[in-house]
Amino acid sequence: MGLHEQYGLTHVINARGPFTPLGVSRSERGVAVATAQALGEFFVMEEVLDLADRVLAGATGAEAGTVVHCTSSAITLAVAAAMAGTSPERIAALPDTSGMASRVVLPAGHAVHYGHPLVQDIRLAGAVPVVTGTVDECTVDALERELSRPGTACLVLVSSRLVRGAEVPLADAVAAAHRHGVPVVVDGAAQDFRIAELLATGADLVLVSGQKYLGSPTAGIVVGRADRVQAVRAQEKGIGRAMKASKEAVLGVLAALHVRQETDLGAWRRAQEDKVERFVERAGALRGVRAAPAPDPTGLPFPRVSLHVTATGTGPDATALAHALRAGSPAIWVMDHRQGDGELLLELVPLTDPEIDTVLDRLAELLA
Ligand SMILES: *Cc1c(COP(=O)(O)O)cnc(C)c1O
Repeated sequence: MGLHEQYGLTHVINARGPFTPLGVSRSERGVAVATAQALGEFFVMEEVLDLADRVLAGATGAEAGTVVHCTSSAITLAVAAAMAGTSPERIAALPDTSGMASRVVLPAGHAVHYGHPLVQDIRLAGAVPVVTGTVDECTVDALERELSRPGTACLVLVSSRLVRGAEVPLADAVAAAHRHGVPVVVDGAAQDFRIAELLATGADLVLVSGQKYLGSPTAGIVVGRADRVQAVRAQEKGIGRAMKASKEAVLGVLAALHVRQETDLGAWRRAQEDKVERFVERAGALRGVRAAPAPDPTGLPFPRVSLHVTATGTGPDATALAHALRAGSPAIWVMDHRQGDGELLLELVPLTDPEIDTVLDRLAELLA
C-alpha cells in the first residue's frame, strides 16, 4: 500500500514545476537509496560537510561549496556571513547587528515572492533590505549609488522566472558591487542547470535548491568563493543552527549530483522536447484551447506546454479550467500565474506517460 492510501492523502499530478506546496520534485531511486542508508548511520558531520565541499567544487567549478537546509535559509546565512564573517562574537550576536554593516541592496524586481517575500530572508539575519529602483526598472547606476553608501553588507540578485521588470544585467551588477568592495549573493534556487553561468557573473556566492530539478532531499546548495563559503559554514554556531542540513540531505545531494553527472544532458533535453511536442500535438485536437511549446524565460534546458484557453461559448476560461483540473481526482496542478491572460502552462519534466495520458483525458472531458 502506498502512503496516499495508508494515510488517505490526495493523489496529485504535478504539472506545476518544482512547487514547494506539492512536495517539489521526484528523486531518482539512487538518491532515495543513499538517503535511506544515511538515515541508518552515524557520521562525523564535519567530515561529511568537508566531503560536500570537495564534491561541490569539483562538480561546479566553484572554489568551495556547502549545504544548508534550503535556499531560503541559504539567503539568510549568506547575508549573516556577509555581516558577521567568521567572528565568533558577531556570529553569536546575530540577529543583533550592532556595529556591523547591515544594509543589503537588491533591485526592486528581484524582491520576489516565492511563497513568502525574499526580503524576509534578509530581515531574518537582522539585516535591512534596501530595495532599489522600481519593479519595472532598476539600472546598474541606481544600484551602484546604493552600493557606495557606508554600511552596505552585500548585494542580493535573483535568477528566476519570478523576477519582474527590465532585466538587470547580472555581471554588470556584480562588477558594480565589487567596485565598492561589496560581496554579491545570487539566489538561483531553481537554476541548478545554470550554476556555471551564474558563477561566471563573478558572484561571490550562488545558492540553489537541491530539491528542485536536481531531485535531492530538501537542501540549500551554496557554492562560490572559499572564504565566503567558510563564513556561511561558520554561522552554524549561530543562527545557522536552525537552518542546518541533515546528514540524509547532504548525502542525498551528493547522490543527486552523481545522477546529474551520469545524465546525458543532450539526450535528456531531447526527451523533454519530444514529451512536450507529443502533448502539444494531442492537445491540438481539443476544442477551446491552442497548444504550443513555450521556452523557459531564464534559459532552463526544457520547454513547457502553453495552453491558450480560447473560452468560446460555454467552455471554461483559463481560471475555471485550472480550478476544475485541481478539483478532480487525481488533483492536477498546472502553472496558473498567467491565467488572467487566458494562458495555462504545464511543466511535464517529472510526469510519467500514464500521468500525461490522464492530464489529456481530463482536458478532453472538461473542454468537451
Ligand atoms: C524556490 C525558491 C526559493 C526557496 O527555495 P527553498 O529551497 O524552498 O528554500 C528562493 N528563491 C527562489 C527564486 C525560488 O524559486
